[in-house]
Amino acid sequence: MTGETQNSCGTCTVCCKALRIVEFDKQAGVMCQHCTGTGCGIYETRYETCKGFLCGWRILPQLGDGWRPDRSGVLMLVMEAKDLPEEHGVAGNGIQFLILGGEKAILRPGFAEYVMTLVTRNVAVYLSADSPKTLINKYLRPSVMAKNKAAVIDMLLHIYRQHVGYRDLNKWTPLPWVDMP
Ligand code: SF4
Ligand code: SF4
Repeated sequence: MTGETQNSCGTCTVCCKALRIVEFDKQAGVMCQHCTGTGCGIYETRYETCKGFLCGWRILPQLGDGWRPDRSGVLMLVMEAKDLPEEHGVAGNGIQFLILGGEKAILRPGFAEYVMTLVTRNVAVYLSADSPKTLINKYLRPSVMAKNKAAVIDMLLHIYRQHVGYRDLNKWTPLPWVDMP
């Protein structure tokens, strides 16, 4: 959506579909009318919200190309430390993982490892699947402390399925939105 940082959007347009943008009344899950399919058709005059937005992948240069949201099926949203529960705020900003690529996105190599790193550092980790986000550190911590990656993946899948169930129960927009390679 915005200018230059170490990771650049390229042809990704995931946030232009996934996010609700109040400034011009765009609903979540609906592609912005200005999207060309590979970028913004009104880039120079795009909305202030768009100018100010960077997804987590854009601002975490240590995450490689495979983490670009249209490739990973995961849109990462940074959550400011001031908005987090006190026990996590001291670890800095938190991260919400919005899962758009289904279970495949959770099983992708590197996903569980990164989540484990964050939980080890006590960084607040939230998960959502077009459903209310859940703080998941406490569910993952025992397996993370035991360095049991398989158990972490099982728990992530379990939490994800709970979210999908809740979403379906409420008849919300079906996912995935992102067709992963
Ligand atoms: S989701 Fe991230 S990488 Fe993709 S267009 Fe939006 S800001 Fe750029
Ligand atoms: S105005 Fe451009 S940057 Fe903003 S959501 Fe639409 S396509 Fe994306």
